[in-house]
Amino acid sequence: MQELLKRKKGLHRSVLIVDDEFIEREILGEMLKNDYSVRYAENGAQALAMIRENKLTLSLVILDLHMPELDGYSLLQIMRADSELRRIPVIVLTSEAGAEVKSLQLGAADFITKPYDMPDIIRARVSHAIELAEDSIIIHEIERDPLTGLFNKEFFFEYGKRLDQQNGHMKMDALVMDINRFRIVNELYGKQYGDLVLKKIGCSIHELVERSGGLACRYDGNCFYVYLPHREDLSEKLPDYIARMSELLGDRKITVRMGVYSDDGEELDMERRFDRARLAERKLRNSYETRFNFYNAELHSKELHAERLINDMEQALAEKQFRVYYQPKYNIQGTKPVLTSAEALVRWFHPEFGMVSPGEFIPVFEKNGLIQKLDRYVWNEAAAKIAEWHRTFGFYLPVSVNVSRVDVFNPQLGDILCEIADRNGLSAENLLLEITESAYTDNSRQIIDTVSALRSRGFRIEMDDFGCGYSSLNMLTSLPIDALKLDMNFIRNICTDKKAYKLVAIMMDIAKLLEVPVIAEGVEIRAQMDLLKDLGCDIIQGYYFSKPLPAEDFDKLLTAEREAKEHAYN
Ligand code: C2E
Ligand code: MG
Ligand code: MG
Repeated sequence: MQELLKRKKGLHRSVLIVDDEFIEREILGEMLKNDYSVRYAENGAQALAMIRENKLTLSLVILDLHMPELDGYSLLQIMRADSELRRIPVIVLTSEAGAEVKSLQLGAADFITKPYDMPDIIRARVSHAIELAEDSIIIHEIERDPLTGLFNKEFFFEYGKRLDQQNGHMKMDALVMDINRFRIVNELYGKQYGDLVLKKIGCSIHELVERSGGLACRYDGNCFYVYLPHREDLSEKLPDYIARMSELLGDRKITVRMGVYSDDGEELDMERRFDRARLAERKLRNSYETRFNFYNAELHSKELHAERLINDMEQALAEKQFRVYYQPKYNIQGTKPVLTSAEALVRWFHPEFGMVSPGEFIPVFEKNGLIQKLDRYVWNEAAAKIAEWHRTFGFYLPVSVNVSRVDVFNPQLGDILCEIADRNGLSAENLLLEITESAYTDNSRQIIDTVSALRSRGFRIEMDDFGCGYSSLNMLTSLPIDALKLDMNFIRNICTDKKAYKLVAIMMDIAKLLEVPVIAEGVEIRAQMDLLKDLGCDIIQGYYFSKPLPAEDFDKLLTAEREAKEHAYN
């Protein structure tokens, strides 16, 4: 803000005086010429041309109301209707009673009455009008997203909360709008086209809030928040609105999805309303058919459940309710499958809910940072287990642990992992690190730096859920990784669906290009394994070999493994 205010100082401002009377122009010009660069126009039409030509540099127009060709009222109206000229303040010159009110109503900043007698007052009014207009531009710049002209998120919440305080009784609906697969739009058609799409959507939202009296912001990248006075018929109106927006976009490939929280009188604060709208919006990800979704009772009970999990987490850690399971991974390229490593997968044995699967609580903990604590717990457990197996069986079985996307932002990540390895007498390569592909696409620079640092300390990185994160080939070639882990959705149908098979074959080719081994997860049947083996897949993890096992059961598996080995040597 300070920076922006400084910009005002030292500007050479220019003022345009518009009057058909030569002598009047001269008197005013004399008063102002020491402080401003003064220009003159004799009539409205000439003035309009000059204003258009100098729209970026002109600080003020002083306008006589009665002139031939185009009078002052009409010029004022033209300027107010033009979004580029609207910012230039206008002071009108009047001599008749009543004209002041009319010109102020038309958007004049101030008025000066003829005949001019007090130069100081006139100079003060001119300077005041310019200052006010410049302040409002600066405020506008700070408050708004430059691309769409909508509020930025800070001011959006600030004004929204003020609105709620002033109109405590008024019901407000929250709407979260996102563009489906916007990353792909940007990648395929270029950033400029992406920006155009955002601008058009911004325009359409602008119109919506102008009509219904709410406010809106570009929340981030391609997500918009809209806060509107409550309407009972919102669900009937939304399809029309979406249709109008599609028309405006003129591109059927680009679609939006909306999550809506409709005010039911619960008196939530603004942030909670948007959390709920966001939740409703999230449900639509990956379902491109449905365009909008209302927050409802089912989502509400899920939200309560999530809150419960968050509340119970600390105690659960202290009471060791979380248990780490291990799922073996086998190398299948030889004549017989060979156990090469395992993946540590956490489960929660909740005193009330029984066993809760990570698919339920991990996404909840990822949203609020709690995941970091849990991950660290799992890493410690896994490292202790590797050391224990070494003591019992005489060999190190590497274990891969999941590293969440928030962990990647922790500058201490490398130190934490090294400390865990050291404390358990392990070398870094015993702990394999699984990082999901979408973390790479979301913040590629950060992750490349983090991962490179981890690799230089000896850790090996496996890219988890490969195929789901829309990495571009170009990006993949520059990524520091040691293995690709195919997402299990691709494996599910490889035996029955030719396309699925081809897709896996392509991914195997990508891995060859990158010169990294491939791990296929979710392999449930022999036929899947055979196909994958033929395609050159190195390692397999899945129910075909074993489900994730509690540590005691994994001990048994290792015992059997050792016995088989001894048997082979005898
Ligand atoms: P993931 O890392 O991709 O883990 C693989 C998931 O696939 C596991 O689900 C595993 O049980 C399941 N799976 C393995 N083989 C098969 C199979 O043949 N068929 C089927 N249908 N499923 C199979 P799980 O344990 O429910 O974990 C789900 C996700 O939760 C994991 O996906 C991972 O993203 C996350 N997760 C689990 N444990 C942790 C953890 O300690 N920390 C973090 N950050 N995330 C974890
Ligand atoms: Mg994993
Ligand atoms: Mg996975």
